[in-house]
Amino acid sequence: TAPALTIEELTAQRDRARQDYLALSARGLKLDLTRGKPSPSQLDLSDGLLEAAGPAVAADGTDVRNYGGLQGLPELRAIFSEALQVPVERLLAAGNSSLELMHDAVVFAMLGVLPGAQRRWVEEPEVAFLCPVPGYDRHFAVCERLGVKMIPVPMTGDGPDMDVVERLAGQDPRVKGIWCVPKYSNPDGAVYADETVRRLAAMTTAAPDFRIFWDNAYAVHHLTDEPAEIADLLALCAEHGHPDRAFVFGSTSKITFAGGGVAFFGSSEANIRWWLSHTSKRSIGPDKVNQLRHVRLLRDAEGLREHMRRHAALLRPKFDAVDRILTAELGGTGLASWTRPAGGYFVSLEVPEGCAREVVAKAGEAGIVLTPAGATHPYGDDPADRLIRIAPSYPALPEVEAAISGLATCVRLVATEKLLA
Ligand code: PLP
Repeated sequence: TAPALTIEELTAQRDRARQDYLALSARGLKLDLTRGKPSPSQLDLSDGLLEAAGPAVAADGTDVRNYGGLQGLPELRAIFSEALQVPVERLLAAGNSSLELMHDAVVFAMLGVLPGAQRRWVEEPEVAFLCPVPGYDRHFAVCERLGVKMIPVPMTGDGPDMDVVERLAGQDPRVKGIWCVPKYSNPDGAVYADETVRRLAAMTTAAPDFRIFWDNAYAVHHLTDEPAEIADLLALCAEHGHPDRAFVFGSTSKITFAGGGVAFFGSSEANIRWWLSHTSKRSIGPDKVNQLRHVRLLRDAEGLREHMRRHAALLRPKFDAVDRILTAELGGTGLASWTRPAGGYFVSLEVPEGCAREVVAKAGEAGIVLTPAGATHPYGDDPADRLIRIAPSYPALPEVEAAISGLATCVRLVATEKLLA
């Protein structure tokens, strides 16, 4: 962002920022904006899960206390089928973490032959994934851990830059996958345009076993009364002759309990068979007791929507505060720009080039812990050093306000010093 201020104005800003920073440091704050966790009051919304679950019998008479039912309870899958855009029979309910399922999907593709693949990925000379940036650090960590090379692709307001995606996936057979958070993406809140989804489904890929890792983590996590809708990737893939291209993931981590929820995997018939052939060696069945508790708490798709409206009521004031304080402190200065997401858990703050690390360091010294700058990029490297991810969900509102105001002070300090240097 080009500074809209004159040298004199910048100098005045810097002097004020120096004073404000001294005052900020003197407050001895201890605030944490690092991870997108639900707040305690959000968790309270699902305390029904902790109460007696009623008879331990599923709709089809299954005793949920016993082994079995690898696909997960059908009645829970039915509740999430619409939100995740996966037909019930091809949607599985698993353990408590979708990240675990994404990790497993890569491991299974490494060690077993995917439908459409010529060989196991471990037998390939190299495996690469396209990584829209900014993106989710834990996706990148899975790649690093499993030796998957990461190729950054720029994000736009409509999702990844599809010209780049089509070129890389179309030409390079090493490119086996792409990470996508299609709705209210982590961290920039982007919602994929219908045309982006269509192009992902339709494009030609050099690898016959290319997979889209469709992490719909924020499928129902709206902050406004106008829920975003995205195109149906699984249906489009089938329509364009690539039925096995999409792996859909989701979870209730930010719906019920982040540490005690249920994760979902959805895909084509062939992929589901392939998936179960691996998971059946790994487990005799998921925690159906917890799944049944979720059915009783959420009831149906409308119950889920209603539950999410209660989350929104708790989250919206925090996101509003972020925007209000950043606007008051940084609006019109040209020192920063930021997203105003309509859902999800994050705000992306962009500062002048070469400033993000320093802002995070200064904030840390003043007691405000932020996600490390660079975490939004593969290998932790934001080449422009511009992006800071803000996660306002966990702290109480007054703490969010104090942290954002302090962060704005750090941005003013670091950016004005830099621009005047
Ligand atoms: N995917 C995205 C995009 C996330 O932001 C997160 C959590 O922040 C997760 C997945 C984690 O999901 P889970 O708790 O189901 O493992």
